[in-house]
Amino acid sequence: MKQRHHEVDFCVVGGGMAGLIAAIAAARKGAEVALIQDRPVLGGNASSEIRMWISGAHGENNHETGILEEILLENAYRQTYPNYQVWDSVLWEKAHFQENLLLLLNCGVNQVTSSEKKVVSVKGWQTTTETWHTVVADYFADCTGDGTVGAMAGARYRVGREAREEHGESIAPERPDRRTMGLSCLIQARETDRPQEFIPPRWAYRYNSDGELPERNHTLTGTQNFWWLEVGGMDDSIHDAETLRDELLKIGFGVWDHIKNRGDHNA
Ligand SMILES: Cc1cc2nc3c(=O)[nH]c(=O)nc-3n(C[C@H](O)[C@H](O)[C@H](O)COP(=O)(O)OP(=O)(O)OC[C@H]3O[C@@H](n4cnc5c(N)ncnc54)[C@H](O)[C@@H]3O)c2cc1C
Repeated sequence: MKQRHHEVDFCVVGGGMAGLIAAIAAARKGAEVALIQDRPVLGGNASSEIRMWISGAHGENNHETGILEEILLENAYRQTYPNYQVWDSVLWEKAHFQENLLLLLNCGVNQVTSSEKKVVSVKGWQTTTETWHTVVADYFADCTGDGTVGAMAGARYRVGREAREEHGESIAPERPDRRTMGLSCLIQARETDRPQEFIPPRWAYRYNSDGELPERNHTLTGTQNFWWLEVGGMDDSIHDAETLRDELLKIGFGVWDHIKNRGDHNA
């Protein structure tokens, strides 16, 4: 397979909002930067693939500022109705046209070389070009969300929740455990101008009565997002991810079948 070699000052692995903004900030300061992202789009959880709008700083006297605000303003200028494909293009444009920034999309880093406890290079497989990319840099930022680069470099890490006394957090569990967020599946309901039939696939779960979905509000009020479909927080949400995704699909299609076809949910 083809091999390509890059030498930069700063290499960011992971093109979610953290990685994208770290890369842009460094490039604007004059550093030669490589940004490696394993998906076809930037944004991570805040991309069209996951669809989590940036809304962490809402409230009086709270606001995202700096490069993130610049991106949010550009997006607001381009579209009045929120559309994730347009958002993806705003993020791509910010990285692609940034001077000093090499953007490698569809490239998953899966090898790390370190020396004296310092990462010296990473290697990633780019699916679209069938090319191995090696990036040597003075500094690396692990913005993978899962801390994958650090783990591959041999850094210590932990998974799950700390015990209450470790940081004096009263709502933390008494003992540490391995629970994490699970995998989520978002259903977005949108009102249409005529009735839409829904035929569930034969492998979808069946929820015949509301009693089978207790504590989960699912009566439609028009435009609505259902965020409560989540499984795997008590499993290994990384290594079991493929199995959990399959399970979520069965649940997701089953829930939508319930809303559309079983009982009166205004659908
Ligand atoms: C369902 C859900 C709801 C949430 N709700 C909120 C909320 O209301 N408010 C809030 O503030 N936050 C919320 N969050 C959290 C928020 O989305 C995350 O904290 C934030 O997106 C983290 O950004 P990040 O850039 O660190 O990581 P991510 O968005 O996870 O981005 C990491 C990127 O790195 C890529 N990557 C991973 N491994 C590699 C590799 N080896 N090589 C190359 N690329 C790699 C991934 O594909 C991903 O695109 C929510 C998250 C979820 C899942």
